[in-house]
Amino acid sequence: MIEIKNIHKHYGDLEVLKGIDASIKKGEIVSIVGPSGAGKTTLLQIVGTLEKADEGEVIISDTPVSRLREKQLAAFRNKHIGFVFQFHQLLPEFTALENVMIPALIAKMRSTEAEKRAREILDFLNLNDRISHKPAQLSGGEKQRVAVARALVNHPDVILADEPSGSLDSQNKIELHRLFFDLRKEFDQTFVIVTHDESLAAITDRIIQMNDGRITEEMRETDDETNPTL
Ligand code: ATP
Repeated sequence: MIEIKNIHKHYGDLEVLKGIDASIKKGEIVSIVGPSGAGKTTLLQIVGTLEKADEGEVIISDTPVSRLREKQLAAFRNKHIGFVFQFHQLLPEFTALENVMIPALIAKMRSTEAEKRAREILDFLNLNDRISHKPAQLSGGEKQRVAVARALVNHPDVILADEPSGSLDSQNKIELHRLFFDLRKEFDQTFVIVTHDESLAAITDRIIQMNDGRITEEMRETDDETNPTL
């Protein structure tokens, strides 16, 4: 599903990624952990095509994304990759339903179809009574679930999440983590999650440990798809 081959990245003189290789299977939930400055977010952004590597290649669902031109890249990103960030980044002037519909409309889905799809996902995420609310009228946990719904609307190959539960209280954290596993069970959804949250990393299928621009360890936590710890 995702192949990451020999990725190098510099910012000026600073070598942030020093040759990263990894492979992620469909339906896997993988966490990337490591100290601040290890290069986790940079790696996630390169996988998500938001940043370019200096060297190496990323292949997502057989497409060598590093070779796509800017216009093809934007279309590929919108259709195949879902993003969830620490802060939800919903558009404040739009309702929850509209926020979720936007990536589908950008992907040229008809508006009736986009609305149907957005309603189905919001329903699955137990947000059907919040669809007309604007972000300011939603709780922190609800906003983050709307952000997950938005990430899902185009049936992405992978959801890339950067500190997705970083701004949530402990109850909302648990619910968000449970949601990732529900989505895997329901849709075989693949996730790559950068996190400092040990409770989240501990329940993922695999932990990729990064230090100073390199993968220093990979740990497989569980072989049980249903994750009974949740
Ligand atoms: P954290 O856990 O604190 O988020 P991280 O492991 O995600 O850290 P990155 O955000 O990938 O680390 O940053 C790796 C290094 O690259 C850091 O030293 C950072 O200052 C630097 N860096 C990141 N983005 C840029 C940029 N756009 N320009 C210059 N330097 C950058």
